[in-house]
Amino acid sequence: MKRENVLIVEGEESSKTLLSRLMERQGYDFIVEADPSEALNRLKNERFTIVIAEVSLLQPRDIPEIQEENPDMFFIFTGSSLEKSNGLVKPNLSDFLSKPFGSEEAEFRLKRVILERDTRLRNRKVQKALETTKDELERRTKELESSVEDLENIKHLYREIGGELTATTEKLREANHQLEVLAKTDGLTEVYNHRYFMDKIGEIFEDWKKKAVPLSLLMIDIDYFKAFNDNHGHMTGDLVLKDIAGLLKSNCREHDIVARYGGEEFAIILPETGSDKAEAIAEKIRKCVENHRLSNGDGSQRVTVSIGIGTSSKDTGSFNALISLADKALYHAKARGRNQVALGEPNAPMPVLQWFSRF
Ligand code: GH3
Ligand code: MG
Ligand code: MG
Repeated sequence: MKRENVLIVEGEESSKTLLSRLMERQGYDFIVEADPSEALNRLKNERFTIVIAEVSLLQPRDIPEIQEENPDMFFIFTGSSLEKSNGLVKPNLSDFLSKPFGSEEAEFRLKRVILERDTRLRNRKVQKALETTKDELERRTKELESSVEDLENIKHLYREIGGELTATTEKLREANHQLEVLAKTDGLTEVYNHRYFMDKIGEIFEDWKKKAVPLSLLMIDIDYFKAFNDNHGHMTGDLVLKDIAGLLKSNCREHDIVARYGGEEFAIILPETGSDKAEAIAEKIRKCVENHRLSNGDGSQRVTVSIGIGTSSKDTGSFNALISLADKALYHAKARGRNQVALGEPNAPMPVLQWFSRF
Protein backbone atom coordinates (compact mmCIF):
# COMPACT_ATOMS: atom_id res chain seq x y z
CA MET A 1 0.00 0.00 0.00
CA LYS A 2 1.30 3.48 -0.91
CA ARG A 3 2.29 5.64 2.05
CA GLU A 4 0.14 8.75 2.49
CA ASN A 5 1.78 12.10 1.81
CA VAL A 6 -0.23 14.88 3.47
CA LEU A 7 -0.10 18.67 3.03
CA ILE A 8 -1.48 20.54 6.00
CA VAL A 9 -2.34 24.20 5.27
CA GLU A 10 -3.01 25.60 8.71
CA GLY A 11 -2.22 28.84 10.55
CA GLU A 12 -3.73 28.07 13.91
CA GLU A 13 -1.21 26.65 16.36
CA SER A 14 -3.60 24.32 18.22
CA SER A 15 -4.91 22.76 14.95
CA LYS A 16 -1.35 22.50 13.57
CA THR A 17 -0.24 20.60 16.67
CA LEU A 18 -3.28 18.32 16.71
CA LEU A 19 -3.01 17.43 13.02
CA SER A 20 0.80 16.95 13.18
CA ARG A 21 0.42 14.49 16.06
CA LEU A 22 -2.32 12.66 14.18
CA MET A 23 -0.04 12.31 11.14
CA GLU A 24 2.81 11.04 13.25
CA ARG A 25 0.52 8.49 14.91
CA GLN A 26 -0.65 7.24 11.54
CA GLY A 27 2.90 7.09 10.25
CA TYR A 28 2.16 9.43 7.29
CA ASP A 29 4.60 11.80 5.59
CA PHE A 30 3.38 15.31 6.00
CA ILE A 31 4.26 19.00 5.65
CA VAL A 32 2.64 21.91 7.49
CA GLU A 33 2.39 25.15 5.54
CA ALA A 34 0.89 28.33 6.92
CA ASP A 35 1.52 30.56 3.88
CA PRO A 36 -1.29 30.14 1.30
CA SER A 37 0.78 31.07 -1.78
CA GLU A 38 3.58 28.75 -0.63
CA ALA A 39 0.93 26.04 -0.13
CA LEU A 40 -0.36 26.56 -3.71
CA ASN A 41 3.21 26.37 -5.05
CA ARG A 42 3.76 23.07 -3.31
CA LEU A 43 0.45 21.77 -4.62
CA LYS A 44 1.53 22.62 -8.15
CA ASN A 45 4.99 21.11 -7.88
CA GLU A 46 4.70 18.22 -5.47
CA ARG A 47 2.49 15.15 -5.18
CA PHE A 48 0.21 14.81 -2.16
CA THR A 49 -2.42 12.17 -1.52
CA ILE A 50 -4.37 14.23 1.02
CA VAL A 51 -4.60 17.98 1.62
CA ILE A 52 -5.99 19.29 4.93
CA ALA A 53 -6.54 23.01 4.50
CA GLU A 54 -8.04 25.84 6.51
CA VAL A 55 -10.61 27.41 4.14
CA SER A 56 -9.52 30.90 5.04
CA LEU A 57 -6.04 30.02 3.64
CA LEU A 58 -6.89 27.77 0.72
CA GLN A 59 -10.31 27.62 -0.90
CA PRO A 60 -11.75 25.03 -3.24
CA ARG A 61 -12.03 27.62 -6.03
CA ASP A 62 -8.22 28.05 -5.94
CA ILE A 63 -7.55 24.46 -6.85
CA PRO A 64 -9.71 23.20 -9.76
CA GLU A 65 -6.75 22.60 -12.15
CA ILE A 66 -4.78 20.97 -9.40
CA GLN A 67 -7.67 18.64 -8.67
CA GLU A 68 -8.10 17.93 -12.36
CA GLU A 69 -4.46 16.89 -12.65
CA ASN A 70 -4.64 14.79 -9.46
CA PRO A 71 -8.10 13.23 -9.46
CA ASP A 72 -7.14 10.90 -6.61
CA MET A 73 -5.99 13.72 -4.30
CA PHE A 74 -8.47 14.30 -1.47
CA PHE A 75 -9.16 17.56 0.30
CA ILE A 76 -10.35 18.01 3.84
CA PHE A 77 -11.21 21.64 4.46
CA THR A 78 -11.34 22.93 7.97
CA GLY A 79 -13.19 25.99 9.22
CA SER A 80 -16.38 27.18 10.84
CA SER A 81 -19.61 25.34 9.95
CA LEU A 82 -20.86 28.64 8.57
CA GLU A 83 -18.19 28.52 5.87
CA LYS A 84 -19.38 25.04 4.90
CA SER A 85 -22.98 26.12 4.62
CA ASN A 86 -21.88 28.95 2.31
CA GLY A 87 -21.27 26.30 -0.32
CA LEU A 88 -17.49 26.48 -0.39
CA VAL A 89 -17.00 22.75 -0.36
CA LYS A 90 -17.28 20.44 -3.31
CA PRO A 91 -18.69 17.30 -1.68
CA ASN A 92 -17.46 14.80 -4.25
CA LEU A 93 -13.78 15.56 -3.92
CA SER A 94 -13.49 16.70 -0.41
CA ASP A 95 -14.75 16.70 3.10
CA PHE A 96 -15.23 19.32 5.72
CA LEU A 97 -14.03 19.37 9.31
CA SER A 98 -15.76 21.96 11.46
CA LYS A 99 -13.63 23.87 13.84
CA PRO A 100 -12.99 23.40 16.64
CA PHE A 101 -12.38 19.66 16.13
CA GLY A 102 -10.91 17.10 18.40
CA SER A 103 -8.24 14.54 17.57
CA GLU A 104 -10.76 11.69 17.37
CA GLU A 105 -13.02 13.48 14.92
CA ALA A 106 -10.06 14.48 12.76
CA GLU A 107 -8.84 10.87 12.71
CA PHE A 108 -12.31 9.62 11.85
CA ARG A 109 -12.62 12.09 8.93
CA LEU A 110 -9.16 11.21 7.69
CA LYS A 111 -9.88 7.49 7.69
CA ARG A 112 -13.27 7.98 6.05
CA VAL A 113 -11.65 10.04 3.31
CA ILE A 114 -8.94 7.43 2.74
CA LEU A 115 -11.54 4.64 2.68
CA GLU A 116 -13.65 6.53 0.17
CA ARG A 117 -10.65 7.25 -2.02
CA ASP A 118 -9.47 3.62 -1.92
CA THR A 119 -12.97 2.39 -2.71
CA ARG A 120 -13.15 4.77 -5.67
CA LEU A 121 -9.74 3.61 -6.87
CA ARG A 122 -10.71 -0.04 -6.53
CA ASN A 123 -13.99 0.54 -8.36
CA ARG A 124 -12.17 2.32 -11.12
CA LYS A 125 -9.75 -0.60 -11.46
CA VAL A 126 -12.59 -3.12 -11.54
CA GLN A 127 -14.40 -0.96 -14.10
CA LYS A 128 -11.29 -0.80 -16.27
CA ALA A 129 -10.70 -4.55 -15.98
CA LEU A 130 -14.33 -5.13 -16.94
CA GLU A 131 -14.00 -2.85 -19.94
CA THR A 132 -10.79 -4.57 -21.02
CA THR A 133 -12.46 -7.95 -20.63
CA LYS A 134 -15.46 -6.71 -22.60
CA ASP A 135 -13.20 -5.38 -25.38
CA GLU A 136 -11.25 -8.63 -25.41
CA LEU A 137 -14.47 -10.62 -25.53
CA GLU A 138 -15.75 -8.53 -28.41
CA ARG A 139 -12.43 -8.95 -30.23
CA ARG A 140 -12.43 -12.72 -29.65
CA THR A 141 -16.07 -12.99 -30.73
CA LYS A 142 -15.22 -11.16 -33.95
CA GLU A 143 -12.22 -13.44 -34.51
CA LEU A 144 -14.38 -16.50 -33.85
CA GLU A 145 -17.06 -15.23 -36.19
CA SER A 146 -14.54 -14.74 -38.98
CA SER A 147 -12.98 -18.17 -38.21
CA VAL A 148 -16.41 -19.78 -38.41
CA GLU A 149 -16.96 -18.03 -41.73
CA ASP A 150 -13.54 -19.24 -42.97
CA LEU A 151 -14.38 -22.76 -41.83
CA GLU A 152 -17.70 -22.65 -43.63
CA ASN A 153 -15.92 -21.52 -46.81
CA ILE A 154 -13.32 -24.27 -46.46
CA LYS A 155 -16.03 -26.84 -45.80
CA HIS A 156 -17.90 -25.67 -48.89
CA LEU A 157 -14.69 -25.84 -50.95
CA TYR A 158 -13.92 -29.35 -49.69
CA ARG A 159 -17.44 -30.46 -50.51
CA GLU A 160 -17.06 -29.09 -54.05
CA ILE A 161 -13.61 -30.62 -54.56
CA GLY A 162 -14.81 -33.86 -52.97
CA GLY A 163 -17.75 -34.00 -55.37
CA GLU A 164 -15.52 -33.37 -58.38
CA LEU A 165 -12.99 -35.95 -57.14
CA THR A 166 -15.70 -38.57 -56.68
CA ALA A 167 -17.07 -37.89 -60.15
CA THR A 168 -13.55 -38.03 -61.69
CA THR A 169 -12.68 -41.20 -59.75
CA GLU A 170 -15.93 -42.76 -60.90
CA LYS A 171 -15.20 -41.83 -64.54
CA LEU A 172 -11.64 -43.19 -64.22
CA ARG A 173 -12.94 -46.42 -62.68
CA GLU A 174 -15.44 -46.78 -65.51
CA ALA A 175 -12.75 -46.02 -68.14
CA ASN A 176 -10.39 -48.56 -66.53
CA HIS A 177 -13.13 -51.14 -66.45
CA GLN A 178 -13.87 -50.55 -70.14
CA LEU A 179 -10.15 -50.83 -70.93
CA GLU A 180 -9.92 -54.09 -69.01
CA VAL A 181 -12.94 -55.47 -70.85
CA LEU A 182 -11.52 -54.32 -74.20
CA ALA A 183 -8.13 -55.87 -73.44
CA LYS A 184 -9.62 -59.32 -73.04
CA THR A 185 -12.44 -59.18 -75.62
CA ASP A 186 -12.39 -60.12 -79.28
CA GLY A 187 -13.55 -57.09 -81.23
CA LEU A 188 -15.71 -58.92 -83.79
CA THR A 189 -17.41 -61.64 -81.79
CA GLU A 190 -17.33 -60.05 -78.31
CA VAL A 191 -16.27 -63.31 -76.64
CA TYR A 192 -12.85 -63.52 -74.87
CA ASN A 193 -9.78 -63.15 -77.11
CA HIS A 194 -6.90 -65.61 -77.64
CA ARG A 195 -4.60 -63.91 -75.11
CA TYR A 196 -7.19 -64.03 -72.33
CA PHE A 197 -7.93 -67.65 -73.19
CA MET A 198 -4.24 -68.56 -72.79
CA ASP A 199 -4.02 -66.77 -69.44
CA LYS A 200 -7.18 -68.37 -68.20
CA ILE A 201 -6.44 -71.94 -69.28
CA GLY A 202 -3.10 -71.78 -67.44
CA GLU A 203 -4.81 -70.49 -64.33
CA ILE A 204 -7.71 -72.95 -64.42
CA PHE A 205 -5.35 -75.84 -65.22
CA GLU A 206 -3.27 -75.05 -62.09
CA ASP A 207 -6.47 -74.90 -60.09
CA TRP A 208 -7.61 -78.27 -61.53
CA LYS A 209 -4.38 -79.95 -60.27
CA LYS A 210 -5.54 -79.28 -56.69
CA LYS A 211 -8.99 -80.75 -57.30
CA ALA A 212 -10.41 -84.26 -57.84
CA VAL A 213 -12.92 -83.17 -60.52
CA PRO A 214 -11.67 -83.06 -64.13
CA LEU A 215 -11.45 -80.09 -66.49
CA SER A 216 -12.51 -80.18 -70.14
CA LEU A 217 -11.71 -78.12 -73.18
CA LEU A 218 -13.65 -77.83 -76.44
CA MET A 219 -11.97 -76.76 -79.71
CA ILE A 220 -14.60 -75.72 -82.25
CA ASP A 221 -13.88 -75.05 -85.94
CA ILE A 222 -16.36 -74.00 -88.61
CA ASP A 223 -16.54 -76.47 -91.48
CA TYR A 224 -15.65 -75.35 -95.00
CA PHE A 225 -15.68 -71.75 -93.98
CA LYS A 226 -13.42 -70.70 -96.78
CA ALA A 227 -16.05 -71.95 -99.21
CA PHE A 228 -18.74 -70.15 -97.23
CA ASN A 229 -16.84 -66.87 -97.55
CA ASP A 230 -16.36 -67.49 -101.24
CA ASN A 231 -20.07 -68.08 -101.73
CA HIS A 232 -21.58 -65.45 -99.47
CA GLY A 233 -18.86 -62.88 -99.03
CA HIS A 234 -16.47 -62.18 -96.19
CA MET A 235 -18.86 -59.77 -94.48
CA THR A 236 -21.56 -62.41 -94.23
CA GLY A 237 -18.83 -64.72 -92.90
CA ASP A 238 -18.22 -62.17 -90.15
CA LEU A 239 -21.91 -62.20 -89.24
CA VAL A 240 -21.77 -65.98 -89.01
CA LEU A 241 -18.78 -65.73 -86.64
CA LYS A 242 -20.75 -63.32 -84.44
CA ASP A 243 -23.83 -65.53 -84.47
CA ILE A 244 -21.85 -68.64 -83.57
CA ALA A 245 -20.12 -66.83 -80.70
CA GLY A 246 -23.58 -65.94 -79.35
CA LEU A 247 -24.75 -69.54 -79.72
CA LEU A 248 -21.70 -70.82 -77.85
CA LYS A 249 -22.29 -68.43 -74.98
CA SER A 250 -25.96 -69.27 -74.73
CA ASN A 251 -25.14 -72.99 -74.54
CA CYS A 252 -22.57 -72.54 -71.78
CA ARG A 253 -22.68 -71.94 -68.05
CA GLU A 254 -21.72 -68.72 -66.27
CA HIS A 255 -18.29 -69.98 -65.24
CA ASP A 256 -17.35 -71.49 -68.62
CA ILE A 257 -14.86 -69.48 -70.68
CA VAL A 258 -15.87 -68.97 -74.33
CA ALA A 259 -13.06 -67.54 -76.49
CA ARG A 260 -12.21 -66.95 -80.12
CA TYR A 261 -9.09 -69.04 -80.52
CA GLY A 262 -8.36 -67.46 -83.91
CA GLY A 263 -9.95 -67.10 -87.39
CA GLU A 264 -13.05 -69.30 -87.50
CA GLU A 265 -11.99 -71.38 -84.52
CA PHE A 266 -13.37 -71.10 -80.96
CA ALA A 267 -12.36 -72.69 -77.67
CA ILE A 268 -14.42 -73.28 -74.55
CA ILE A 269 -12.93 -74.06 -71.15
CA LEU A 270 -15.33 -76.13 -69.08
CA PRO A 271 -14.09 -76.12 -65.47
CA GLU A 272 -15.08 -79.01 -63.21
CA THR A 273 -16.51 -80.94 -66.17
CA GLY A 274 -15.87 -84.59 -67.04
CA SER A 275 -15.79 -85.98 -70.61
CA ASP A 276 -19.44 -87.18 -70.56
CA LYS A 277 -20.79 -83.79 -69.60
CA ALA A 278 -18.36 -82.07 -72.02
CA GLU A 279 -19.54 -84.36 -74.83
CA ALA A 280 -23.17 -83.52 -74.06
CA ILE A 281 -22.43 -79.80 -74.16
CA ALA A 282 -20.46 -80.19 -77.39
CA GLU A 283 -23.25 -82.17 -79.03
CA LYS A 284 -25.78 -79.57 -77.97
CA ILE A 285 -23.63 -76.85 -79.54
CA ARG A 286 -23.11 -78.84 -82.73
CA LYS A 287 -26.84 -79.35 -83.19
CA CYS A 288 -27.62 -75.78 -82.33
CA VAL A 289 -25.21 -74.50 -85.02
CA GLU A 290 -26.52 -77.00 -87.54
CA ASN A 291 -30.08 -75.77 -87.02
CA HIS A 292 -29.23 -72.12 -86.85
CA ARG A 293 -30.22 -69.72 -89.60
CA LEU A 294 -28.15 -66.60 -89.96
CA SER A 295 -29.85 -63.53 -88.48
CA ASN A 296 -31.15 -61.33 -91.30
CA GLY A 297 -30.13 -64.00 -93.81
CA ASP A 298 -32.25 -65.73 -96.48
CA GLY A 299 -31.97 -69.21 -94.94
CA SER A 300 -29.25 -70.42 -97.27
CA GLN A 301 -26.35 -69.31 -95.09
CA ARG A 302 -25.90 -72.36 -92.97
CA VAL A 303 -22.72 -73.67 -91.43
CA THR A 304 -21.74 -76.63 -89.30
CA VAL A 305 -18.96 -77.05 -86.80
CA SER A 306 -16.57 -79.82 -85.81
CA ILE A 307 -15.71 -80.09 -82.14
CA GLY A 308 -12.75 -81.76 -80.45
CA ILE A 309 -12.91 -82.48 -76.72
CA GLY A 310 -9.94 -82.77 -74.36
CA THR A 311 -10.46 -83.81 -70.77
CA SER A 312 -7.69 -83.58 -68.18
CA SER A 313 -6.23 -86.80 -66.78
CA LYS A 314 -2.92 -88.08 -65.42
CA ASP A 315 -1.63 -88.01 -69.02
CA THR A 316 -2.20 -84.26 -69.42
CA GLY A 317 0.76 -82.84 -67.56
CA SER A 318 0.28 -79.27 -68.77
CA PHE A 319 -2.42 -77.06 -70.23
CA ASN A 320 -0.59 -77.28 -73.58
CA ALA A 321 -1.06 -81.06 -73.45
CA LEU A 322 -4.77 -80.46 -72.83
CA ILE A 323 -4.97 -78.10 -75.82
CA SER A 324 -3.15 -80.67 -78.01
CA LEU A 325 -5.56 -83.37 -76.87
CA ALA A 326 -8.61 -81.28 -77.84
CA ASP A 327 -6.89 -80.23 -81.07
CA LYS A 328 -6.14 -83.83 -82.03
CA ALA A 329 -9.78 -84.73 -81.38
CA LEU A 330 -10.81 -81.88 -83.67
CA TYR A 331 -8.58 -83.34 -86.41
CA HIS A 332 -10.41 -86.65 -85.95
CA ALA A 333 -13.83 -84.95 -86.18
CA LYS A 334 -12.75 -83.26 -89.42
CA ALA A 335 -11.26 -86.49 -90.77
CA ARG A 336 -14.41 -88.43 -90.02
CA GLY A 337 -16.47 -86.10 -92.20
CA ARG A 338 -17.01 -82.87 -90.16
CA ASN A 339 -20.20 -81.67 -88.34
CA GLN A 340 -19.39 -83.99 -85.47
CA VAL A 341 -17.93 -84.24 -82.02
CA ALA A 342 -14.80 -86.27 -81.20
CA LEU A 343 -13.43 -87.16 -77.79
CA GLY A 344 -9.68 -86.81 -77.34
CA GLU A 345 -7.78 -89.98 -76.44
CA PRO A 346 -4.24 -89.35 -75.16
CA ASN A 347 -2.63 -92.23 -77.02
CA ALA A 348 -4.73 -92.21 -80.20
CA PRO A 349 -2.72 -91.89 -83.45
CA MET A 350 -3.22 -88.87 -85.66
CA PRO A 351 -5.65 -89.53 -88.53
CA VAL A 352 -4.10 -90.41 -91.91
CA LEU A 353 -6.00 -87.60 -93.57
CA GLN A 354 -4.20 -84.48 -92.47
CA TRP A 355 -6.29 -81.45 -91.59
CA PHE A 356 -4.23 -78.42 -92.30
CA SER A 357 -6.82 -75.76 -91.78
CA ARG A 358 -5.77 -73.40 -89.02
CA PHE A 359 -7.27 -69.94 -88.90
P1 GH3 B 1 -12.30 -76.91 -92.70
O1 GH3 B 1 -12.09 -76.17 -91.49
O2 GH3 B 1 -13.62 -77.56 -92.74
O3 GH3 B 1 -11.21 -77.88 -93.03
O4 GH3 B 1 -12.35 -75.92 -93.91
P2 GH3 B 1 -12.18 -74.38 -93.84
O5 GH3 B 1 -12.49 -73.80 -95.18
O6 GH3 B 1 -12.96 -73.83 -92.74
O7 GH3 B 1 -10.69 -74.25 -93.53
P3 GH3 B 1 -9.59 -73.29 -94.03
O8 GH3 B 1 -8.48 -73.19 -93.11
O9 GH3 B 1 -9.26 -73.75 -95.45
O10 GH3 B 1 -10.26 -71.85 -94.05
C1 GH3 B 1 -10.56 -71.12 -92.92
C2 GH3 B 1 -11.23 -69.93 -93.43
O11 GH3 B 1 -11.80 -69.11 -92.40
C3 GH3 B 1 -10.27 -69.03 -94.18
C4 GH3 B 1 -10.83 -67.64 -93.97
O12 GH3 B 1 -11.38 -67.13 -95.12
C5 GH3 B 1 -11.92 -67.82 -92.94
N1 GH3 B 1 -11.78 -66.84 -91.89
C6 GH3 B 1 -10.86 -66.78 -90.90
N2 GH3 B 1 -11.06 -65.68 -90.14
C7 GH3 B 1 -12.13 -65.05 -90.64
C8 GH3 B 1 -12.83 -63.85 -90.29
O13 GH3 B 1 -12.51 -63.13 -89.36
N3 GH3 B 1 -13.93 -63.51 -91.04
C9 GH3 B 1 -14.33 -64.27 -92.09
N4 GH3 B 1 -15.41 -63.89 -92.78
N5 GH3 B 1 -13.68 -65.39 -92.45
C10 GH3 B 1 -12.60 -65.78 -91.73
MG1 MG C 1 -12.66 -74.44 -90.72
MG1 MG D 1 -9.79 -73.34 -88.94
